[in-house]
Amino acid sequence: MNNNINNIKSLYLHIPFCDNICFYCDFPKVFSRYFDKKLYINKLINDIKKLNIPFDSLMTIYIGGGTPSSLSILEIEPLLYYLHQSFPSIKEFSIEANPESLTLEKIKLYKKYGVNRISLGCQSSNEKILKYLGRKHTISDIQNSVAMLREENINNFNLDFIYGIPNQTLSDIENDLNFALKLNPTHLSFYSLQIEEGTILYNNLTKIDNDVDRKHYDLICSILKKHNYIHYEVSNFAKKDYYCRHNLTYWKDEEYYACGVGSAFYIKNKRGKNTLSLTDYLNDKNKIETEIITKNDEEFEYLMLNLRLLNGFEIADFNKRFNKDFLNTYKNKLSKLNKYIVITDRVFIKPEYIYTMDQILIELLP
Ligand code: SF4
Repeated sequence: MNNNINNIKSLYLHIPFCDNICFYCDFPKVFSRYFDKKLYINKLINDIKKLNIPFDSLMTIYIGGGTPSSLSILEIEPLLYYLHQSFPSIKEFSIEANPESLTLEKIKLYKKYGVNRISLGCQSSNEKILKYLGRKHTISDIQNSVAMLREENINNFNLDFIYGIPNQTLSDIENDLNFALKLNPTHLSFYSLQIEEGTILYNNLTKIDNDVDRKHYDLICSILKKHNYIHYEVSNFAKKDYYCRHNLTYWKDEEYYACGVGSAFYIKNKRGKNTLSLTDYLNDKNKIETEIITKNDEEFEYLMLNLRLLNGFEIADFNKRFNKDFLNTYKNKLSKLNKYIVITDRVFIKPEYIYTMDQILIELLP
C-alpha cells in the first residue's frame, strides 16, 4: 500500500442511468427518464474536484454504469471537457457503451476529449438470448457500433459477453466466439451469468447448471487461446499490450478514486462506497460507508485479487509490501496446494484450475 495520495493512478466514475433494465442486472442503476442527468453530471464534477487529485498523477479513467452511452452529447460533454482539461496525463480513458445507444456523434465527442478505449456490452450474438436477458439491442446494432468505432479509428475496444445462460448450448458459445473474433476486438470479457436476488431472472427462479457453465468456460478459453488472445484474468482476454490497465489497478490491489452513485473507492487504507440512492446523491446527502482495511485484511485481499490474474504476483512485491517472507509464512498451506499453484519468482494458479480458484483460495487464505 503506498499510502500516498499522489500515487493513486486510477479514477472510476459511475453513470447510473439506463434506458432499459436488463433481467439479470444487479449493478447500481436507475431508469434514465425519471432523473435530471445534467444535475447528476454537475454533482459528479464537483465530487471529482473535492478529491484534489494532482493534475499529473492519473493514468486511467473508466466511466462505467449503468449505461454511459445513454447520456446525450449535451449531457456528457461537460464531464468529458472537465476531465480532459484537468488530467492531461491519462494514458487509458475508457467508457462503457451499449450498442443501441452508441452513435457516430457520441464516438466523435468521446474521441475529441481523449477517450481511447470503448467497452461495448454485447452479451450474446443470438437474438433470442438477448431477449431472454432483457437486452434491447440487436446483432446488427453491435456490428454497426464496431463499424462506427473503426470509422473513427478507435481500434482499442472490448466486447463483453455472458455465458452459462440457461438453455445456451456449446454451439451458441461457438457462435458468440466466431462472431466476436470476426469483429477483431483488442479485448474480450466473458462473464458467467450470476443470478442475483432482486433481479427478474431471480424472481423467475432461474437456475444455473454449474457443469454446463464449466464446459462453456473451457471452450471459451481454448478457442481464444488458439486465436492468440492472452487469458490474463479469470474472465478477461486481450491481445498483447491491450490488457485493461484500469482494471489491473483493482486486481493488483492498488488504490483508486471513485465518484458517483454506488461506486466504490480504495484510498489510504480505507475502502468506501458512495450511497446507492440517486435521490440522496442529488440532494447532497451522499452517505459514504467506509471500512478500515487492516494489514491482515490487506494481505487477504492482495492474495485474493492478484491470484485472479493468470500470472499472479511477484513474491518480492508481496514481501516488500507486507514486510514478511511469503514462502516462509505460507509454507504449510503451499505444500498442500502443489497440484494447483506454480511458484517461481511469482506465484500463480495453473490455468486449468483458475475456474475453481475459489476453492484454492479457501485453502490458502489466512
Ligand atoms: S444496461 Fe447494464 S447496467 Fe443497465 S440494466 Fe442492463 S446490465 Fe444493468
